[in-house]
Amino acid sequence: MIRIAVQKSGRLSDKSLQLLKDCGIKFENGGRKLSTQAKNFPMEILFLRDDDIPQYVANGVADLGILGLNEVEEKDQKVDVIKQLGFAGCRLSLAVQKDVDYPGLEWFNGKRVASSYTTIVEKFFKDKGIQATTEEIGGSVEIAPGIGLADGICDIVSTGSTLIMNGLKEVETVMYSEAVLISNPTLDNQKKELLEKLMFRMEAVQNAAKSKYILLNAPNDKIEEISSLLPGMKSPTVLPLAEAGWSSLHSVIEENDFWNVIDQLKDAGAQGILVSPIEKLIA
Ligand code: ATP
Ligand code: MG
Repeated sequence: MIRIAVQKSGRLSDKSLQLLKDCGIKFENGGRKLSTQAKNFPMEILFLRDDDIPQYVANGVADLGILGLNEVEEKDQKVDVIKQLGFAGCRLSLAVQKDVDYPGLEWFNGKRVASSYTTIVEKFFKDKGIQATTEEIGGSVEIAPGIGLADGICDIVSTGSTLIMNGLKEVETVMYSEAVLISNPTLDNQKKELLEKLMFRMEAVQNAAKSKYILLNAPNDKIEEISSLLPGMKSPTVLPLAEAGWSSLHSVIEENDFWNVIDQLKDAGAQGILVSPIEKLIA
C-alpha cells in the first residue's frame, strides 16, 4: 500500500486527481472525505492543504505527494523531488510599485519584502548578497506596498495581471515552479515497487500528451523521403492502399515538431494527413 497526498481544494486538485485517473487508478473522490482508497491499485489518497504536504511526506504519514515546487522549497523538509509533472507552471517574482525607478537587485538593500514564501526569498537575497528583511503574510501579498507594510513583494506570478491591478511591476524572477511528485526518502521495498509502477504509468501518460499519432497517404516513390521526415518510434508502418502505387504511412510525431513537419510532408507529396491524440505511449 502506498499513500499519496494531494491538495484538497485549490489550483492543483483537479489536475492531480486527473493524473492519477489517467494512470488507470480508480477511486471515489467524495466531497469532504479526508482520504480515499483506490479500487484497483494498492493506493490511499490523502486530501490535504498543500502547505502541509511536505511535512506529511517527510515524516512518512504520506509516502508521496503532489504539489508546487515553490511549496516544496519553502517548507524545506527532507523529501525527494522525483518527477516534474508539467502543470501549474508559474514563477515566484519580486515586484515593486510601478513608479519605482528600479536600478537592479541592489535596490532591495535595506528594504522590506512581504511574501508568503519568506524562506525562499531570504535564501535568494542571501545568495545574491542583498541585505533585506522579510515580512511573512499569508495572502493578498500584493496590497502590502500600497498600505506601507513593505517596499516590495515576492509572490506567484503567471500572467502578471494581478500585479498590474495593484499598481506593481515585476522586477526579478526568483524561481520557476510547476507541480512535482515528491517522495519520502526512505520508502521500503514494497512501496518502492509501487512507486516504480506509478512512475511508469505517469511517463506513459506524459509521453502520450507530447505526441500525436499521424496517418497519411503517400505515392510509393515518395515513401522513403516521407519516412525520413517521420522517424516515429522505430520507423513508420507502411501499408499498401487498394489504389495501386499508393501506401498508407502510420507513425508518431512530437507535438512541438508538428507544424514544421506537416509542411514538409505536404511538399513531399503526402495526402490525406490525419493526426489524432494518443492516450498512452510506452516507448
Ligand atoms: P491550500 O489551501 O491548499 O493551502 P493555496 O491557496 O496555498 O492552497 P493555490 O492557490 O491553490 O494554493 O495554489 C497551489 C499551487 O498552485 C501554488 O503553490 C503554485 O505552485 C501553483 N499556482 C498558484 N498560482 C498559480 C497561478 N496563477 N498559475 C499557475 N500556478 C499557480
Ligand atoms: Mg497553501
